[in-house]
Amino acid sequence: MARGKSGGAFLSTLDTEHAEWRPLLALVEAALGEMERPVWSESVPAREHSAAIGEPLVSGAIMQVTPDLVRRWVHRAMTIASAGASAIPFADALAAGRLDHLALFEAAVAGDPNRLDDLAQAAGDDRGVLKVVGPILAMPILHACRRAWTPLVPAAWAEGYCPICGDWPALAETRGLDGQRRLRCGRCGGDWRTERLRCPFCGERGHENLGSLVSEGSEQQTVDVCERCRYYVKAVTALVPIRPEDVFLQDLATLVLDVIALERGYGRPTAKGRRVQVVAKPSRLRTLFRLHQWTTGGAR
Ligand SMILES: [Zn+2]
Ligand SMILES: [Zn+2]
Repeated sequence: MARGKSGGAFLSTLDTEHAEWRPLLALVEAALGEMERPVWSESVPAREHSAAIGEPLVSGAIMQVTPDLVRRWVHRAMTIASAGASAIPFADALAAGRLDHLALFEAAVAGDPNRLDDLAQAAGDDRGVLKVVGPILAMPILHACRRAWTPLVPAAWAEGYCPICGDWPALAETRGLDGQRRLRCGRCGGDWRTERLRCPFCGERGHENLGSLVSEGSEQQTVDVCERCRYYVKAVTALVPIRPEDVFLQDLATLVLDVIALERGYGRPTAKGRRVQVVAKPSRLRTLFRLHQWTTGGAR
């Protein structure tokens, strides 16, 4: 298994093994670089309540974003995405004002497939590109949220979806010598405990309805399936936790498990575990501060 690999090592392995993924990997690489910038943390709102009654912490968040930061990142991400496939109109649509960068950012952070569809149609694309790009676009801010909010997640969080962003787990991780089972989120890197015998999607606990597909020689990676809802989660054994920043790449690197599951008729839910609303508002304070800098500091 790919345990121990991280960041750059993962990217170069995937790049070698899957040349067809290069545009996607270029985008992920850009997101990983962006995630290292502390400036994203400034847009993370304080949350005072713990994630009670199954509500992810991002739910209802009002993010005061620096417009330049969002505009630059959205534009860069969509330029990379557009370079990967011809006739993807997003970079042009942004430049022409047919696609609003803040609306796109907001829909991506909320993980709202309907809004992403509406924005894609307005930009002139009906191939579902934004549904692929959206989660990557949201990674810098959602990882900043996860870093800030992890201490607020109650130890008793019992939902199958992520307590930070509400997405379904990308992976289940069996960790350490005691074999504790953790669910991991690809969008924000979230990490929460679950029971060994419990379907994350429908809550099924009956062992007669839960099973694992194991391929010979790779018992450390399985596909855990539920006969009640017919969904699956990929499960990996890890002596040390997968770095939050690497969960998305681990999800890609275990594509062979998805193929095994899909061939047997299991699926992943298409909608998020919990729908959330997020508002991204331009931060007036920072905008004014920048104007002040420009007017008093001369040419930049
Ligand atoms: Zn998450
Ligand atoms: Zn189930």
